[in-house]
Amino acid sequence: MIQYIKNIWAGLSSSFIGMKITWKHLFVKKVTIQYPDQRFTLPEKARNRLYLEMSKCNGCNSCAIACPVNCITVETIRVSPNDPQQEVHFNGKDRKLWVSRYEIDFAKCCYCGLCTAACPSDAINHTTEYEYSEYKRENLVYKFQTLTPEQVIEKERLLAEFRTQEKVCHPETDKKPADNKTADKTTE
Ligand code: SF4
Ligand code: SF4
Repeated sequence: MIQYIKNIWAGLSSSFIGMKITWKHLFVKKVTIQYPDQRFTLPEKARNRLYLEMSKCNGCNSCAIACPVNCITVETIRVSPNDPQQEVHFNGKDRKLWVSRYEIDFAKCCYCGLCTAACPSDAINHTTEYEYSEYKRENLVYKFQTLTPEQVIEKERLLAEFRTQEKVCHPETDKKPADNKTADKTTE
C-alpha cells in the first residue's frame, strides 16, 4: 500500500516538473522560425551557391586549381587569329581563350570560397541562393559555358586550320623543344 502511494506521488511530481518546464518556455523568446514562410536574414558574407559571369571569365583555370574538392571543370580553346569573332575582354585586353566548358558540381562543393579568391577577374562569386535541392545528383552539375556545341566545333576547326597554315609557312616552329636541343648540340 505504501509503495502504491509512493508510485502515485512520483508520477504526479514528475508531471508537475514537466509542466513547470513547459510553462517556463512559453514566455521565453522563440529560437525557431516557421520555415519556409519565414527565413533568417543571412550574414553579409554568407557563402551559398556560386554564380559565374561568363563575360568576365578568361578561362585561366585558377579557380579549378584552387578548388580543394575538384568540383570545377574548365576546358578552353585558344582563339585563332583567323576567327572572325574576336572579342575584347571586359578588362580591355583581347580574349585569348574561348571557354568551351565550365561546370561546377554542387554536390561536391564545400562552399570554402577559395575559387572566388583565386579568380583574377572577379568572375565567380557566391550568391544568396541556398535552396536548390534536386532529386537527381546529376542535376547539381551546373553548366555555365555560353558557346553552343556547334560553335565549339567551329572554334576547334579554326584553330586547327591556323596551326596547319603556321606549319606550312614556318615549318621550323613545328620542331619540339627536344628536337631543337639536339640540333643545338649537333652544331656545337
Ligand atoms: S567554393 Fe570551394 S569547394 Fe566550392 S567550387 Fe569553390 S573552391 Fe571548390
Ligand atoms: S579563375 Fe575566374 S577567370 Fe579564371 S577560369 Fe575561373 S572563373 Fe574564369
